[in-house]
Amino acid sequence: MSAILPPATLGMLGGGQLGRFFVLAAHEMGYQVWVLDPDPASPAGAAADRHLKAAFDDYAALDELAHGCAAISTEFENVPADTLDYLAKFVPVRPSADAVAVCQNRVAEKSFLASHGIPHAPFAPINTEADLREVSPTLFPAILKVARFGYDGKGQARVANRDEAIAAFRGFKGEACVLEQMLSLDYEISVVLARDEAGQVKCFPASENSHSRGILDVSIAPARATVCLRDSAQEIAEKIAADLGYVGTLGVEFFISRGELYVNEMAPRPHNSGHFTVDACVTSQYEQQVRALVGLPLGDARAHSVAVMVNLLGDIWFDAAGNCREPDWSRLFAIPNLKLHLYGKRHARPGRKMGHFTVIGTDPVKVLAAATAARSAIG
Ligand code: ADP
Ligand code: MG
Repeated sequence: MSAILPPATLGMLGGGQLGRFFVLAAHEMGYQVWVLDPDPASPAGAAADRHLKAAFDDYAALDELAHGCAAISTEFENVPADTLDYLAKFVPVRPSADAVAVCQNRVAEKSFLASHGIPHAPFAPINTEADLREVSPTLFPAILKVARFGYDGKGQARVANRDEAIAAFRGFKGEACVLEQMLSLDYEISVVLARDEAGQVKCFPASENSHSRGILDVSIAPARATVCLRDSAQEIAEKIAADLGYVGTLGVEFFISRGELYVNEMAPRPHNSGHFTVDACVTSQYEQQVRALVGLPLGDARAHSVAVMVNLLGDIWFDAAGNCREPDWSRLFAIPNLKLHLYGKRHARPGRKMGHFTVIGTDPVKVLAAATAARSAIG
């Protein structure tokens, strides 16, 4: 297939910040973008050439998107697989419905890892209380996670034993779940890569991620893991992409427990921990998403700088008395090697991802110190 070239129009399912960065990357390359998202205030919709404000299963809107766009991608894993299948009848859709379906359901995801010999935490699928009564006692202590629609630590309960697991399962109203053994984590890393139609892969450097209240807080790239661990993580991520027949940008989260790698989950889209690629790599994860979508050769994924990315949550919009006000951005703009990205969300809420900043440089210790100082300066 020959590449779809500018000024073609591309479609994006989902209007959050990941979609917004896709729009910005596509615009720089000369493409136009239509975004489908029901939220009238969607960050990607605001940046797009056209914002279709409709649900993901609104077939009239899907028809419009399919007829107006030369190719379509997604920025979130919970888009119905039926929607992707339907659009694929008319235009190239990348990643495919099949790949997204694996990543959007924890049972399918962990079964995929198990059947492809990829290291992961021991788990059991849970559909009924009876399943919980039968699981091996060696799984405890464990985490019960709803199979679908969990994110940022939502839809998860830490359970010490079978009784607690049964109580938590009732709390999730009997929704399908996985019960996963709790690993003792040394730290967490992720690998973002892009894979094209021909199976060529470009891997970004692995980043080291820390979370606060279940939400990604800081990413350090490259991760402070041994070269051997980073290489193995990249190899595993490449195997996952190949086994999924994946085309597009893929994020793979890993645990490192007692020095060993375990895959935690996959995101069939750019990943929050890959924001650093915008400011520190030759090609960003969003430009790679565009390139894979339109059939262009992938760009160089090499990092030209070391980077530390800090997420900015809505919490810092609130002062000690609980009043909402805009943080003093001049403090961040004063730092010459800091890149501030705000997503244009109108309403701040605690825990809501409002923006991020990336500090870049050559000395990892200095970059981390500068990012830590910048974060205390802003609240
Ligand atoms: P989410 O979709 O919310 O990102 P994850 O499965 O990645 O869900 O879990 C969120 C966080 O919870 C992980 O980044 C990790 O810190 C912790 N966690 C999840 N599963 C385990 C586990 N099996 N053992 C130890 N910690 C875990
Ligand atoms: Mg996760």
